[in-house]
Amino acid sequence: MSTDNITLLLHGGSGRLHPAGTPFPQEADYERTLAAAAQAGLAVLARGGSSLAAVEASLRLLEDSPLFNAGRGSVFSHAGVNEMDAALMDGATLRAGAVAGVRTVRNPITAARAVLERSAHVLLTGTGADEFAAEMGLETAPPAWFRTEERWQQWQALQAEKAHLVVLPPKYGTVGAVALDQAGHLAAGTSTGGMLNKRYGRVGDSPLIGAGTYANHVCAVSGTGHGEFFIRHAVAHDIAALMEYRGLDVATAAHHVIHDKVAPAGGRGGVIVLDRHGHVAMPHSTEGLFWALARAHRPVETNVCHMVVE
Ligand code: ASP
Repeated sequence: MSTDNITLLLHGGSGRLHPAGTPFPQEADYERTLAAAAQAGLAVLARGGSSLAAVEASLRLLEDSPLFNAGRGSVFSHAGVNEMDAALMDGATLRAGAVAGVRTVRNPITAARAVLERSAHVLLTGTGADEFAAEMGLETAPPAWFRTEERWQQWQALQAEKAHLVVLPPKYGTVGAVALDQAGHLAAGTSTGGMLNKRYGRVGDSPLIGAGTYANHVCAVSGTGHGEFFIRHAVAHDIAALMEYRGLDVATAAHHVIHDKVAPAGGRGGVIVLDRHGHVAMPHSTEGLFWALARAHRPVETNVCHMVVE
């Protein structure tokens, strides 16, 4: 047992960033919210909580914030509804839980944890997932809770253009977290509203174990970006496999999958990865990736700035 290595790394999505040196109006809000979420997760780890609990605690805060494309503030599907996906995985046991296409559970990441801990399954979808969450006594919320004016306007603009485009939200972002606890156990979680204007019933990479979310005894991974590519390339598991089977370090493995495999295929996005020693990597092929990193005895680091594509 050691408190020295405890780590909580989270992301707030990948995508376009404001050019270097031009702060955007909500920059401080994003920074503050990311830092608070990372700190909340670290506090769980500091008092001996599990990496699973820490990931959930961080992501609940980001889901409740209207700034991110997860929970409250999710993007709208083509049908004009919010359908959310989330997954949580425990690296020590390989137990996992996920929900896809939920509409009424306030915190999809908590529903994912309930699937992991209180069902015989890994992934529940749609009405079945919402009903399970309600049966488990999880808090529900009406459509108005998830709706933000900004996301509604983004959706309206696409309808006005009669576009059947499915696009990555023009702003941040899907949320994800990875954590290392005092017992040396890793966990990963991801939560998202998915892609703007997505087709009814579309499921992205975030709730799919091995695609957008994965954790084992070697590393924990959460992704963000164009989900269809992350599914095809089994991104999160591929990174873990490179580390486990080929002995690559966290930065080399993550960089290879994002830049040498997914990007050349046309898939843009990024990942956060944490290994069992507390080493981190957050490569991205988009202009930027929002992230926050909280470790023992150090100030929280955040990134909401312009970053050059690596
Ligand atoms: N990966 C998510 C999805 O495809 C979207 C995102 O990360 O922004 O559903």
